[in-house]
Amino acid sequence: MAKEEKAILGMIPCPHCPEQMAVKHDKNGDPFGHCEECRGQLRVGGNPARVRKFVARYPWAARPVVGAADPVTVTVTEKPAAPAPVTAPETPPARRRANFADALGILGVKHAA
Ligand SMILES: [Zn+2]
Repeated sequence: MAKEEKAILGMIPCPHCPEQMAVKHDKNGDPFGHCEECRGQLRVGGNPARVRKFVARYPWAARPVVGAADPVTVTVTEKPAAPAPVTAPETPPARRRANFADALGILGVKHAA
C-alpha cells in the first residue's frame, strides 16, 4: 500500500473549462485539482493560508487522516486520574516568633507597650 492512487475528495468547477475538476491530495496532503477534460491543474498547497481558505470553502478537501505518520493525527492525551486528596498531617501550631519586645523582656528591659 506504499503507492496508491489518490482518492478523489470532491469536484470543483474547473477554472479552465466548463467541466468539473477532481480534487485530490498532493504528496503533502494539500488539495490539488486536476481536470480530466482539459488536463488543467490547480495547485493549492505551498501556501498554508491558501490551503486554509480552500479547505474552509471545501471542507471535504481537508488533510487526509490516514497512517500514523500523518502530521494532522491528533493525539488525545488522556488526563491522569486526579490523585486522592492528601490529608495533611495535623501540624502543630506554629510557634510564635519572638519579637523585639520579647527580646527586651529577656534582657530584663521594661518596654512601654
Ligand atoms: Zn478543465
